[in-house]
Amino acid sequence: MIQLDSPIADLKGFGPKSAEKFTKLDLHTVGDLLLYFPFRYEDFKSKSIFELMDGEKAVITGTVVTPANVQYYGFKRNRLSFKIKQGEAVIAINFFNQPYLVDKFEVGAEVAIFGKWDRKKSAVTGMKVLAHVEDDMQPVYHVAQGVSQAQLIKAIKVAFDSGALNLLEESLPQVLMDKYRLMGRQEAVRVMHFPKDLAEYKQALRRIKFEELFYFQMNLQVLKAENKSETNGLAISYDEVKIKAKIATLPFPLTKAQERSLSEILADMKSGAHMNRLLQGDVGSGKTVIASLAMYGAYTAGLQSALMVPTEILAEQHYQSLKGLFPELKVVLLTSGMKMADKKVALSKIESGEAQMIVGTHSLIQDAVIYHKLGLVITDEQHRFGVNQRRIFREKGDNPDVLMMTATPIPRTLAITAFGEMDVSIIDQMPAGRKTIITRWVKHEQLDTVLTWIKSELEKDAQVYFISPLIEESESLDLKNAVALHQELTEFFGDSATVALMHGRMKNDEKDQIMQDFKDKKSQILVSTTVIEVGVNVPNATVMVIMDADRFGLSQLHQLRGRVGRGDKQSYCVLVANPKNDTGKKRMQAMCETTDGFVLAEEDLKMRGSGEIFGTRQSGIPEFQVADIVEDYNILEEARRVASQIVSDPNWRENPDWQVLEAHLRNQDEFD
Ligand code: ADP
Ligand code: MG
Repeated sequence: MIQLDSPIADLKGFGPKSAEKFTKLDLHTVGDLLLYFPFRYEDFKSKSIFELMDGEKAVITGTVVTPANVQYYGFKRNRLSFKIKQGEAVIAINFFNQPYLVDKFEVGAEVAIFGKWDRKKSAVTGMKVLAHVEDDMQPVYHVAQGVSQAQLIKAIKVAFDSGALNLLEESLPQVLMDKYRLMGRQEAVRVMHFPKDLAEYKQALRRIKFEELFYFQMNLQVLKAENKSETNGLAISYDEVKIKAKIATLPFPLTKAQERSLSEILADMKSGAHMNRLLQGDVGSGKTVIASLAMYGAYTAGLQSALMVPTEILAEQHYQSLKGLFPELKVVLLTSGMKMADKKVALSKIESGEAQMIVGTHSLIQDAVIYHKLGLVITDEQHRFGVNQRRIFREKGDNPDVLMMTATPIPRTLAITAFGEMDVSIIDQMPAGRKTIITRWVKHEQLDTVLTWIKSELEKDAQVYFISPLIEESESLDLKNAVALHQELTEFFGDSATVALMHGRMKNDEKDQIMQDFKDKKSQILVSTTVIEVGVNVPNATVMVIMDADRFGLSQLHQLRGRVGRGDKQSYCVLVANPKNDTGKKRMQAMCETTDGFVLAEEDLKMRGSGEIFGTRQSGIPEFQVADIVEDYNILEEARRVASQIVSDPNWRENPDWQVLEAHLRNQDEFD
């Protein structure tokens, strides 16, 4: 008796040799075969010959009316021919060099043939015989060397004939199948391989996708729930009145999105559960203000807070802004570049508790740093900090709450997938009154005009960034390009401007120095590879020129554009590109059309596919067999909603409705 876990070699007609070949597709058992779904279908809908154009390829059905015979001519060449009747029409069918098909065409048999229609001769050159007359969707599977499409189809058919499908257990709770009107698992699996028609197939696909995304979400939600209950976080009892009073002193009202994010963060802080939240928002959307207010909240509860950023220059920037916002507090800066004596002073202030807010670089997680009462940790640009570093930070305090900020607009779709174990707050709204950056796309031929225009901008005291072309996977070519561009611009502008150069081969303090000089207006033009620090704020820089802009992804272009438009002056972004393909053109157009990072990120995702945005492996985005997180976003959302609802009941495992899930979750160790 064939079981789901029987080896493929146990199937009739298959031995260890062919089974070995199937392992290349990671197919080992009969169950594997059943669950190995086609990646597409050929539409073999049969057509009447009256609908066909001369030379068209289509499926033609009819009844065989003359015996099939094979005519040989020459070496190995032959023709199998016979006639079929479709309605009143008689059609000649010819197959070349496939004499073995002869048995399939007995007089009276109903046949379906895929072939090419020759109207003049009223004949069809047959290419393929379809298994069932009613078949109109033929599955196509991914194959590997040594395993042909036909072999795979045969194996799957034999697997189905073995009756093993009846052993496949239902994996979704009846309650959910009823609620979403989902097909049963066995039926869905059968339909995936042998769909009767498109409507049936769509139902099966919906069921399979839901199952896939639902279990993905269940695993995440269970993990999240375990995190929350196991690690007892701090319940930070901040003073709401004081926070409100502080907000009232700001020179601007918070945007709705800021208010919402702040209250989400504060709710996490207040709860005894550990906060693990991502604060997302485009450059300039006002994340820092919100993070600062959260730090202030920790202060009102008598706790220290720390803000960790990737570079010294950013640390200095945030230090100044925190001091400005909270003149009554003791804010302490700690970076690796500080003098030893200053560092010692800072360390002792941190340890004694005199320091109420701390800002710094990686130094903040070194052994020498001892916190007094660390309640809240905020990291800026979470992509820069590995999971390990974040963990160290947590262990430094009494498991402080953690908030991560990122200016990389991660599409909602991806955020809930990739950061499923984190909570996400999104500031998706810009403060009122911002001047929109004017973006123009020009061709290389127009560069002279651009440079002349820049000259006039420089006369108005503007500062300009030039991003040199990106050569993927070649840092040395990147560098060459940057050096060449620097050279050209230096020649062009002569005495009228100082042109600085920054690239990835430079040491961090070297880069910091160049940025600082640019900030201090010691240089007017900064040529750079893409290393320009995220988050660096030079409000006087109002022009961003990106060379060969079509080589960059949309998200990256958007990040680069975000370096300007930070002051109250009108800013510009010039994209210099002669795109060679449609994608490049579309990117340029999208950049000119919108400055909304989330819209662009969604576009980017659509154009490039999720894998390429962050690189699938590091992003932790799983690859689904049938589901697509962009296309099936609605299902993903719904799956997440249901999963989190289920898990929100601490006794969900005892609920008979969810019994099926338990059994299935235990089998899903690939998500660990
Ligand atoms: P982000 O950290 O998201 O890049 P910031 O918090 O640095 O943004 O804010 C960018 C600028 O906008 C700062 O000068 C800040 O004072 C200002 N800002 C923040 N929130 C608002 C608001 N609601 N209305 C007006 N200006 C704001
Ligand atoms: Mg808490």
